[in-house]
Parts: sequence; C-alpha cells; structure tokens
Amino acid sequence: MGKLFKTLIFDGEISLSVIDSTDIVNEAIKFHNLTPVCAAALGRVLTVTAFMSSSLKHEDERLSVTIEGDGKGGQIVTACDGKMHVRGLIGNPFADLPLNSKGKLDVGGIVGKNGSITVIKNLGLKEPYVGRCDLVSGEIAEDFTAYYAYSEQQPTAMAIGVLIGRDETCIGAGGIIIQPMPNCSEESIVKAEKLIGEFGDVSAKIHSIGAEGIIKEYFSEYDFTEYNPSYVCNCSKEYIDGILITLGEDELYDTVEKEGKIEVCCHFCDKKYVYYKKDVDKLLGK
Ligand SMILES: [Zn+2]
Repeated sequence: MGKLFKTLIFDGEISLSVIDSTDIVNEAIKFHNLTPVCAAALGRVLTVTAFMSSSLKHEDERLSVTIEGDGKGGQIVTACDGKMHVRGLIGNPFADLPLNSKGKLDVGGIVGKNGSITVIKNLGLKEPYVGRCDLVSGEIAEDFTAYYAYSEQQPTAMAIGVLIGRDETCIGAGGIIIQPMPNCSEESIVKAEKLIGEFGDVSAKIHSIGAEGIIKEYFSEYDFTEYNPSYVCNCSKEYIDGILITLGEDELYDTVEKEGKIEVCCHFCDKKYVYYKKDVDKLLGK
C-alpha cells in the first residue's frame, strides 16, 4: 500500500504532500513486466496520479492522465478514483534505453519531450473536466508542473523519483509536492521552492528513510494526515459485459464460432475474462 502524508506548512500558506509510492510501482512492475526505465516512467506518473486522487472528494469521482510523447515507451495512461485506487499502463512495457548522460534511467527519453499531457476528471458533473498541456521534458515532474500552471492555474513544485534496484524491483519511489494556498505570501513561495530543491534525490531518501523518515527529518513540527493510495484495478465482469454488448450480436457469435471463445484481457491488471458460447447467450439474454 502506498502512503501519502498531507499538511499545511509555513503558517498554513503552503500545502505539502509527502508520498511513498514504492508498493504501487512494484504492483505495476508485476502486472506489466516493465523494464527499469519503463517502471521509472510509469512509476513517476503513478506517483503524481496517487497525489491527484487525494483531491477527489467522493469515492465515485475519477480521473485519468494520458501522456502522449514521441519516445519509445509509447503512451502512458493512468487512472484513479476517490477511493485512492490507482492503476496505469505504458504502451511498450519492454522498451529500453541506455542510461542518460547523468547515469540515470532515461525517463525523458523513453517518454519523449514532444507531445502532450491530458487530464480528464469525472467529478459527477454533466461534462467531465479536460485539461491539456504540452510536455516540457518528458521527465514527468516538469510536465505536471506545467500542466498545473497552465491548465489549473495552480502553481506547483514537485520532486518525483523512482529508484529501481539490481533485481529490477522498485526499492524507493515517491515524491514531495507543494502548492501555495490562495493567500500565500511571496516569501513563503520562495522558501517552498528552495525546500523542493533539497529533494533532488527523493527516491533515494524514500529508499533509505521512507516518507516517515523524511517527515521526521524535515517537517517534525507539523501534524500530517495519512492517506493510503494503492494499485487496484476496477475492471469487473459487469464492465467487460458492457463493452462486449456494444460490439453487437453478430460480431460476438462470429468470434465464438471462429475462436471457440472470446478472451478479453484487462490492460491495467492483465486479468483475463473468457466467454464461451453459453456465456454469450446469457450476456444477450438468450
Ligand atoms: Zn483490470
């Protein structure tokens, strides 16, 4: 389970979130057999998505993030709901690149710096909210910072990181995200930006001391509220039923005849849904 700690700092002028998403990234690695660089790219997006889920007010509110870059990894899609269930996928989970010039996993390269980031929020209103912004570097933190600034007019600073161990599991992932409150003073903004600068290696800090350790070391004077985002797919037989019905009777019976069954695999969690002729009959009420 992930951990997300939230509080207000600097006399209530800045909202601060400290996130440990290590477990969430490991679930994603398990489901999708990600290469380390894909795990880092998708993991960073999942980390911000977990943060975004904490802003949903009702359990049935949902949001999705689509990052469409021109890198080898292909499209990254993540989604979450008000229960803080987070899930995600990357188009080419086996894509790989050598380490970048700093000796780090080349997230910017695998995502690509030309493209867009789109956030769709279903908040129970008639129309969903759609925000869209060009990518800045494909390194994810900068891209989301730009998204928040341009699409939500919300200044944001974040340090996001994913550390992959020798065994290709995630050994530390998370981030620090700060957003000024509406009445925030210039002085607090400057202080907060300086603070974020201290977390250039946030994944190594999560690895060594955890989110709790970061709080103890840097923010021990504040009371935090803890949330627990987790990697949970919300696919269900009812959901797949609904998709199949839209394909129409002919198509369904054709496939069953040719293949003996219809197999649908959920892209987010790899769960397989299998329909034989009798299941199609039942689905169509025959
Ligand atoms: Zn699923």
